Amino acid sequence: MTMTPAEKVMREALARARGAFEAIEAIRLTAVIGVILVVAITTHTEPGFMAVEPGFTRADVPIPVRVTSYAPDGHDDALRAVASAVEITNQRLGFDAFVVQTLPTFVGAPFVDVEIGVPTEHSRAEGAVVVDPGGAALYRAGQRECYVTTSNTGTDELLGLDLQHELAHCLGLAHDSYESSIMCGSDPGQPSCTLRVLDGFPPRISDNDRALLRTRYMRANRK
Ligand SMILES: [Zn+2]
Repeated sequence: MTMTPAEKVMREALARARGAFEAIEAIRLTAVIGVILVVAITTHTEPGFMAVEPGFTRADVPIPVRVTSYAPDGHDDALRAVASAVEITNQRLGFDAFVVQTLPTFVGAPFVDVEIGVPTEHSRAEGAVVVDPGGAALYRAGQRECYVTTSNTGTDELLGLDLQHELAHCLGLAHDSYESSIMCGSDPGQPSCTLRVLDGFPPRISDNDRALLRTRYMRANRK
């Protein structure tokens, strides 16, 4: 089996994550365009939680989001992109599920780590061919940690959508097959769905998923 560059990046990210964890019980990948290495089994095509959910609880929100970038000169772009995805997610949910972390967290605190490949001038150029854009969210059941990677997203728009998508995986959401949903995605043997902006309307967390996340994470009497 030959690997595309995007698959290579994913495999390396997975290898790193495996190094950090003894076992990964849930791995979710999204192929924004094209098919990328998929190591997960899920039967969801409707909105809802994944069979194996991450370990974040109501007490953990807002969950700190740490940002690292593998384009050193693009770190400010990476921070801006993640901050924007966090803001859109929080606004849609109506409570602060995430907060961008700029200070070190104490040991034992929950976190989402985002390793982000920001679009380059080259990939932003008109007519640029973007090979297998995608992202991944990795976590272990019961652990209050989630690792997000993005690669080859090409445009800032696609990067933004992918970040929102992966952050939502970190909250436990599964793929669905609705193009208006930010969880639009393709799993083996399921209908395919391509994450993209439709006629100027960016996909967002579905009403059903929003209700699930508010029930699970939103604190009473708190913003
Ligand atoms: Zn996905």
